[in-house]
Amino acid sequence: MSTCKKCLVTSSRPEADFDSRGLCRLCRDYESGKRGGASPELVAWGRKDFSATVEGIRGKRACDALVCLSGGKDSAYLASLLRGEYDLKLVGFYVDTGFQPAFSRANLDRAADRLGIPLEVFSWPDDFSRRFYRYFFTRPLASGLTGTVCRVCQLAIISAALGHARRRGIPLVLIGYSPYQSGGDWFYELKPEVFASAWRAMGDFWSDPAIPPGLRGRFCIPEGPDGEPPPRLLMPLHVLNYPSEREVRARLAREGILPSSRSLPRKTKCDLVRLMAYLDTLHFGAPPHRLLVSEKIRRGEASRWKYRAAFRAFSWLCRLGLCQPALVRATLRRIGLTGEEALRCLREGRESDEGYRDVFRMDPRRELTRAFPP
Ligand SMILES: [Zn+2]
Repeated sequence: MSTCKKCLVTSSRPEADFDSRGLCRLCRDYESGKRGGASPELVAWGRKDFSATVEGIRGKRACDALVCLSGGKDSAYLASLLRGEYDLKLVGFYVDTGFQPAFSRANLDRAADRLGIPLEVFSWPDDFSRRFYRYFFTRPLASGLTGTVCRVCQLAIISAALGHARRRGIPLVLIGYSPYQSGGDWFYELKPEVFASAWRAMGDFWSDPAIPPGLRGRFCIPEGPDGEPPPRLLMPLHVLNYPSEREVRARLAREGILPSSRSLPRKTKCDLVRLMAYLDTLHFGAPPHRLLVSEKIRRGEASRWKYRAAFRAFSWLCRLGLCQPALVRATLRRIGLTGEEALRCLREGRESDEGYRDVFRMDPRRELTRAFPP
């Protein structure tokens, strides 16, 4: 297996198509100025819509908008923009799945405190959490666990945020997806019909009779019996000023919201993400996130040789069973699976379906397919 001379795309990927210089198609496209993502006109349109939306809601209720916070840099950065530049009265919302590290929660409390945002937490009961993750760990897509479980988890978190805002009469939900996390029809606003279509990726999980109706009622389930329209859900970082990740972290540190030693993505990863990376690496022979890292390398935001060495070391540690073995064992135990069972499910992974879009992994092949602005 060979690797692109500029990024980390390998010859096994469909986007490899190496030229005589050993560059992949994505790097050639980047060189020639053909880049996925939003056009400047589209970004300008979104920014204008955001300003108008904010003007229309500011100060009309006890709380203007609900912002999803995760303890990571992007949601903290979004919250600081909303407070500082848009003067919104916010409530922070956090879903505690039981698998996030204590580190994230400490970050979250600190950021909310510094920004003066009251925090409301939805803690998933252990039994629900176990059922949810076990269901999707045993039904991964052929593209891997990271691409399956992270996506459905994000859908469930969005659904919980919409449900929470609706009950509280809050008209707007804001989520801090970075510009890397856009594509297809996931850009700036998540339309109810797009959300509903993505929801089908959840299969029949929600019809499990073991989920108590009261708990199910805390989620906004599309096409559910309640019929009330959900609040608007916007992803403002797709159109607002988002400098490089390094600058975002530096700004949070300067403002005393998160010291940069606490905002490294690897530190705020949940235990399940670590387990998925381990299992995907064993299954595919290489760590996930290769496309995302490659795009950062192309844009000069990450070092190719450092990531190349890190990926090699990580693959090697996984094969030798030296990659956080205690955490891997404990996390598997909590979702009621053995490593062998999880790997067998991965080998039987199903092909992606229409509702299951690759939203939460950056993929530069994805263009904004729907006509925006609407
Ligand atoms: Zn490349």
